[in-house]
Amino acid sequence: MKVSIIGGSIGGLLTGIAMQKTGHQVDIYERSATAMQGRGAGLVVQAELMNYMIHQGISSHQLFGVPAAQRQILNGQGYPAYSYDNDTSFTSWNYLWQQLKAYFPAANYHYNHQLVNLQQTGKIVNGTFADGSQIETDLLIGADGYNSVVRQHLFPDIAPLYAGYVAYRGLIPEDELTAEEIDFFANKFTLYPYSNSHLLAYLVPGNHGELGKGRRQLNWVWYLNKTQAQLKDLMIDKNGVERQYSVPATFLRDANIAELKTRAQIELPEILSARVQQTQNPFVQVIVDMAVPKMYQGRVVILGDAASLVRPHTASGTAKAYEDAAALAAVLTDHSTLASALQRWNTMQLHHAAELISYGRRLAKGSGLGQ
Ligand SMILES: Cc1cc2nc3c(=O)[nH]c(=O)nc-3n(C[C@H](O)[C@H](O)[C@H](O)COP(=O)(O)OP(=O)(O)OC[C@H]3O[C@@H](n4cnc5c(N)ncnc54)[C@H](O)[C@@H]3O)c2cc1C
Repeated sequence: MKVSIIGGSIGGLLTGIAMQKTGHQVDIYERSATAMQGRGAGLVVQAELMNYMIHQGISSHQLFGVPAAQRQILNGQGYPAYSYDNDTSFTSWNYLWQQLKAYFPAANYHYNHQLVNLQQTGKIVNGTFADGSQIETDLLIGADGYNSVVRQHLFPDIAPLYAGYVAYRGLIPEDELTAEEIDFFANKFTLYPYSNSHLLAYLVPGNHGELGKGRRQLNWVWYLNKTQAQLKDLMIDKNGVERQYSVPATFLRDANIAELKTRAQIELPEILSARVQQTQNPFVQVIVDMAVPKMYQGRVVILGDAASLVRPHTASGTAKAYEDAAALAAVLTDHSTLASALQRWNTMQLHHAAELISYGRRLAKGSGLGQ
């Protein structure tokens, strides 16, 4: 079958790889003009995705990410109140994307293709891109993220809804930390929970996937509640542009960075406040909720963040995209008709997403975050 995937991020590449492995002719269309850098920061990846990447030879145990054997929970003074075993590896959006991108055939990955319209007629789906070029395909898959054009085509009334809080994030090159500070954070997942908030920190690969000591980065994420009015102010970037769901690194207004740093001095223990102070370009992501009632119509499918968003505390956005992709490839192999395959896949994946969404909301509520 001829399969066209819209969006070449984590979800799109995982889907492309899974579909190609089951014998389909796959092309990925990504709106970015060049290789993507600096999207998001650190990522916790669930074991099933990590095992898949290692098993398929996309990555290896040694190269998957930065290992962390322990979780440490800090008290108000910044000392570990308790620790426990937490065998995991941390990666970063960049590094994971680079590994998936290197695995998928370059000739079938098309940059600079922004889908603007689509149309289904009989057994064919037509897609039109911003430059006027067109494709004709048997199955069109929207892996185009939370602002998905494909979802807007299927469900024009569904859009992400503000969950009541944001994630401030930052990355610090390891060589800007002292030996004691590296020792404090290395090989650990550090968490500081306090009233209606929490901050977490862990080491991730360097910008180009460097895993060696001295070349990694410390990643931190700090969740804070914001009223609608506070959010509106935060989303106006340094050029006066009102952003929707994130303000990327280097675009936060000086006043907002100053407010963040002052708040860190007041609310965080010194070991964490100092990290916020030394971060060159913090950025912010708005936490939103969204779910569709159905993940396909005819020969058009949506998956990953395009179909539903889970709260980041579940650390399962990438694993959900992987499950969507792997399950889709499997049902298409197992079922004799496309219609029955998609029906089955839809039931399974909607159920899976609903469980993650509700789990994420429970975690947020337990931390006093959002509505
Ligand atoms: C604060 C925060 C922390 C998170 N932490 C984690 C974590 O620790 N672990 C985890 O697993 N997940 C985490 N996530 C979620 C995770 O980042 C996503 O779920 C995951 O990356 C899946 O994304 P995706 O590929 O579906 O969509 P996206 O990454 O949004 O990709 C969509 C792609 O489509 C392209 N595109 C968009 N429109 C068009 C168009 N019209 N035409 C062509 N291309 C288009 C975009 O350029 C982009 O490349 C976190 C999210 C947030 C906000």
